[in-house]
Amino acid sequence: MTDVFADLVGQDEAVTELRRAAAAAAAVLRTGAADRASALVAAGPASAAEPASAPAGVDPSAGMTHAWIFTGPPGSGRSVAARAFAAALQCVHGTGCGECPGCRTTMGGTHADVRLVVPEGLSIGVGEMRALVLRAASTPSGGRWQVVVIEDADRLTEAAGNALLKAIEEPPPRTVFLLCAPSTHPDDISVTIRSRCRVVPLRQPPATAVAEVLVRRDGIAPDVAQWAAAAAQGHVGRARRLARDPEARKRREAVLAVPRRLTGVGAAFDAASALIEAAEAEAEASVTDSDTTERAALETALGAGGTGRGASGAIRGAAGQLKELEKRQKSRATRAQRDALDRALVDLAGFYRDALTMALRAPVAPVHTDTAALAGAGAQKWDAEGSLRRLEAVLACRAAIEANVKPRIAVEAMMLALWKG
Ligand SMILES: [Zn+2]
Repeated sequence: MTDVFADLVGQDEAVTELRRAAAAAAAVLRTGAADRASALVAAGPASAAEPASAPAGVDPSAGMTHAWIFTGPPGSGRSVAARAFAAALQCVHGTGCGECPGCRTTMGGTHADVRLVVPEGLSIGVGEMRALVLRAASTPSGGRWQVVVIEDADRLTEAAGNALLKAIEEPPPRTVFLLCAPSTHPDDISVTIRSRCRVVPLRQPPATAVAEVLVRRDGIAPDVAQWAAAAAQGHVGRARRLARDPEARKRREAVLAVPRRLTGVGAAFDAASALIEAAEAEAEASVTDSDTTERAALETALGAGGTGRGASGAIRGAAGQLKELEKRQKSRATRAQRDALDRALVDLAGFYRDALTMALRAPVAPVHTDTAALAGAGAQKWDAEGSLRRLEAVLACRAAIEANVKPRIAVEAMMLALWKG
């Protein structure tokens, strides 16, 4: 029983809804109704309050919709859910069996009618979006649906959002848009796009569910899986990395050593530098390989070193393309640095959260079992109020970086606040 939804951990309600919708979509194809405009239940502007656009007696939640938004905290499986649903739409059985060519090629990322937008930089531009919308309007070659998955739809530029909105407002009959975003807050998704989409909220999966999937799918020992699931705070990908990658464990340990090291102003600044530099190193390690490969591939495609007749013509456009690639790579490196720093801040927030729950004697398990004793000492020293202030300092630092404050400045301010309390 490993169908395409198997990896969607701890999301039973969402899976039920998606299965229903996939079945409804398959029924639409069977009756040949897809090409009539009214075949799908439109999530019109009124749908947030009341499904006024649905015909009487029809439950819109059971039907199929042209545009969806998957929301949830990082690691909850937004993109996993979107891909699984895309596979279920392309499944020849209409269920997402996981076995048929439609399911396999979608999950493998090679289905001709499934387009995946994974922004590598800080935003998705209008050019990319226009091209995508245009291709999405064509007839599906496999005879089912054209599916467009947009990971991190919160990174759409305003112009790109408008291009997408136009397509969602008048969707081609066989096209389905699947958007992923942290939430439906207007900062993440424009109100107009939101009003045209059906929302599938995902929750932070419980640690037990995450541990279970690490054991079942990745063959990780149960005790390691349990520790990693708790330490990753419901983030499935992070839990897997912690369980498997000693470097990731080392970086986490360094972050959790921060509270111990804050003994004065100088130490606070040192800790800030160490945190920033660790994030930079981690980011560099994660992007260097792909940068080199991409550059080599582009140079080959441009005929660098070639002597054929095409080579000289290709070189004329080469400088521009290389420049474009460098711009993309720089943008991706910045993103990777921010992501690495954010992971560190989430770990640190977990530590102060542990101190707070201990000071309050709340009957909940600590996030970081391995620093529980240290958090306990902190709880005694700071009490609930001091622990809460420190937790808030970490969260404020995340918010500041998200709002484009220079990371070093935000982290230094946080370290001072953590030291002073
Ligand atoms: Zn299938």
